[in-house]
Amino acid sequence: MGKALIIGCGGVASVAIHKCCQNSSEFSEICIASRTKSKCDALKAKLDGGNTKISTAQVDADNVDELVTLIENFKPDVVLNLALPYQDLTIMDACLKTKTHYVDTANYEPPETAHFEYKWQWAYRDRFKDAGITALLGSGFDPGVTGVFSAYAVKHEFDTIEYIDILDCNAGDHGYPFATNFNPEINIREVSAKGSYWEDGKWVYTEPMEIKRVYNFPEIGPKDMYLLHHEELESLGLNVPGIKRIRFFMTFGQSYLTHLKCLENVGMTSIEPIDFEGKKIIPLQFLKAVLPDPASLGPRTKGKTNIGCIFQGKKDGKDKKLYIYNVCDHQECYKEVGSQAISYTTGVPAMIGAMLVMNGTWNKPGVYNIEEFDPDPFMDALNRWGLPWKVSREPELVE
Ligand code: NDP
Repeated sequence: MGKALIIGCGGVASVAIHKCCQNSSEFSEICIASRTKSKCDALKAKLDGGNTKISTAQVDADNVDELVTLIENFKPDVVLNLALPYQDLTIMDACLKTKTHYVDTANYEPPETAHFEYKWQWAYRDRFKDAGITALLGSGFDPGVTGVFSAYAVKHEFDTIEYIDILDCNAGDHGYPFATNFNPEINIREVSAKGSYWEDGKWVYTEPMEIKRVYNFPEIGPKDMYLLHHEELESLGLNVPGIKRIRFFMTFGQSYLTHLKCLENVGMTSIEPIDFEGKKIIPLQFLKAVLPDPASLGPRTKGKTNIGCIFQGKKDGKDKKLYIYNVCDHQECYKEVGSQAISYTTGVPAMIGAMLVMNGTWNKPGVYNIEEFDPDPFMDALNRWGLPWKVSREPELVE
């Protein structure tokens, strides 16, 4: 039994917090701390009455001193960072100062650059090791479960893995012409960036959305998907021995792409500040304010997600291929925790990662990506906590 401090109270955090409360034999006490305390209080009011004791706090997670005071007062066994990627380093600094384990779901991104990579967080490796604390990076679905699936394939299914294609299909329909299913600022920054994939030890770059494929997803059917850069390519390229190529594809509907193009063309996705009525505003942040809140999509979104990894490689000298994936239904998630499947598929693995670090199953002082831990307890927990996985041994391959 342990205590977790959860920072952030948005779409993903709400699911993770519901799941911590369902898992009260592990999470005896949680503190929900975020910028807007009223959101934490509203969630506490909804969940109070179970076996997990809940408290709330206001915190500016950009401020290390505030975080340190909060951690010193609450004394958590683990800090689960479900704020935005911009806060990763300040929260890691506070964990170092208080010698507290750290878990997140997205790698650091300086707000002014729209560029994410692991180098900033990997630079904390020695300091976390010396402090005797574990930082688990990327415990969402992608990154997260995709890394666990990869570690599982390395451990149990292959002698060598040569190719990985990570597929992220959201076939949910929320009925809006344009909305993002997680934080709009982070989502739009991710999809308007140049694409890239990892091949023969180096990056190959593409224009945004340049590479399109159609894939026939199990339990969903054929969908258009596009090659994107994605953060787990960077760590899996280093951590899967013998890998020759890793790519990441995400599905998008035509309405989303047409709106995104228009918004880009008129400068609404820019992160360069502009003058507006005597104030500096950032167009992308303004756009976020007028788009539907991802947390409000839950009741409207119908359909399923299918996210997983196609592996190709060798076993006992023979060619082998495999698709390990999860299918998640938006409305079933909504019935269970009041959120759509994108928040659900991220919030459940966030709870599982925090649990495994908190209870010492994953105890490795230093800073590690998720595929560097034993995948088996995580794979078992996925089946138990709402994201059962399946294996297709004759999958269609991506051309
Ligand atoms: P939301 O925008 O819904 O929630 C973010 C929360 O963080 C909000 O409650 C916000 O407060 C709070 N917050 C932001 N800045 C601060 C700050 N300075 N101090 C304190 N709290 C702050 O985002 P999501 O829930 O959609 O996403 C959460 C994280 O999950 C993101 O990092 C995202 O990149 C990641 N993610 C990872 C995925 C994966 O598969 N690995 C998939 C989807 C998301 P306020 O309420 O005041 O705005």
